[in-house]
Amino acid sequence: MATDNNRFQAIISHCKEYGFIFQSSEIYDGLSAVYDYGQWGSELKKNIKDYWWKSMTQLHENIVGIDAAIFMHPTTWKASGHVDNFSDPMIDNKDSKKRYRVDHLIEGYVDELEKAGKKAEGDALIASMDQLLAANDFDGLKKLIEDNKIKCGVSGTVNWTDVRQFNLMFSTQLGSVAEDASEIYLRPETAQGIFVNFLNVQKTGRMKIPFGIAQIGKAFRNEIVARQFIFRMREFEQMEMQFFIRPGSQKEWYEYWKEARMKWHMTLGIPADKYRFHDHVKLAHYADAACDIEFDFPIGFKEVEGIHSRTDYDLSRHQEFSKKKMQYFDPEINQNYIPYVIETSIGLDRTVLMVLSNAYEEQDLSTPEKPDSRVVLKFIPKLAPIKLAILPLTKKDGLPEIARQIMDECKTSFKCFYEEKDAIGKRYRRQDAIGTPFCVTVDHQTKEDQTVTIRYRDTMQQERIHINKIKELVEKQIL
Ligand code: ATP
Repeated sequence: MATDNNRFQAIISHCKEYGFIFQSSEIYDGLSAVYDYGQWGSELKKNIKDYWWKSMTQLHENIVGIDAAIFMHPTTWKASGHVDNFSDPMIDNKDSKKRYRVDHLIEGYVDELEKAGKKAEGDALIASMDQLLAANDFDGLKKLIEDNKIKCGVSGTVNWTDVRQFNLMFSTQLGSVAEDASEIYLRPETAQGIFVNFLNVQKTGRMKIPFGIAQIGKAFRNEIVARQFIFRMREFEQMEMQFFIRPGSQKEWYEYWKEARMKWHMTLGIPADKYRFHDHVKLAHYADAACDIEFDFPIGFKEVEGIHSRTDYDLSRHQEFSKKKMQYFDPEINQNYIPYVIETSIGLDRTVLMVLSNAYEEQDLSTPEKPDSRVVLKFIPKLAPIKLAILPLTKKDGLPEIARQIMDECKTSFKCFYEEKDAIGKRYRRQDAIGTPFCVTVDHQTKEDQTVTIRYRDTMQQERIHINKIKELVEKQIL
């Protein structure tokens, strides 16, 4: 759980300075744990989203996508268990009045122990916490915090309230006339939009089990501790897939999806040792097995994705609350049943943060003659906001015209960026800072032999290639 707060802060500043991510409503001093994606952040996020969507709905013939509304009938959340159970154990510090999620408070302390070289002590504490959480033993959790003299980061005291549950759903009113208005929730997960549409999709798509329904969309949670940039937001996006299976086959499909999802992560250009699985000890009310895929963020190993074996809990509950049959007739075994479900649920914003954290590199390029450095975002080309920058060396001599021709030829196929201003070295560095993998420079030689200089972001190497080869070269890298 090595943490590197300086690196984390540097990434946050970089995101702001280079148009990736801004605090929401910044001119009004911001809204806590809500963020806006800027010009390059939104491209990066969209590329990740598209890549996930394609890998689910295009590469799997038995997975289809939907796009359900954020608002849902309020009974949905009674059936799903969120009204009663979507809460976290919290504890307040009586002096600072600051509220903490109990697990976060303890994990923060364990991080400190590890930094002080007391790893075994930290591991033991996490093990005790997991056991107490699994048993919903709130008194035990409070005692654990007190016995370890875990302090509030603000007041520095150990003056704690009892541990209590706190519901994380946001509610609002539907209907304009107050008397008739009913309370509805902003969905805290996208999954329920899939469950309530299970029969619609199965029947209209003539889907045969096993099959999946994927969805990308906003979710809202009134997170208590929300100060880790886009890692924990109050409004965020999820990419979820519910895979409907025959009861009894859940173990096998759970293992299948664990492996398949890890394989997907490996294609993001992130080394394997930056990931690990974390098996849940405390299972959610709906699950019979669950694990997280954790990534080694600068703030430590943390969850990016959950894989859950949800049994038939959700569909059974919707059947019970809606009084509509949620059954599937399986022609292969001639039986009706409520399908079991394996869910893969990944946070889009957390994936953005993961990709950014992995890509961010500060490099010292000093030579004995000259101090020099650069910040480079080493995105795989597929995810980079801009694939190709087209840079005429000067603003005259017909060079911009040639550069414009390249731009026109390439921009229908992938995102390009055209720039004339400033010295070429400066322009390269600006592209490095936003992660553009390829730059081509049009110079005077181009007029003679139709070649340009292509410069590769990661190696900074340059070579000359024919104008006709540019598009193909970039396209090959972004497949
Ligand atoms: P955590 O324990 O970190 O609160 P969770 O276990 O509640 O997460 P899930 O309900 O399994 O998360 O949601 C699936 C995914 O959605 C998570 O793996 C994470 O990537 C993302 N996610 C959940 N909450 C947030 C949030 N507040 N901000 C950003 N992403 C989130």
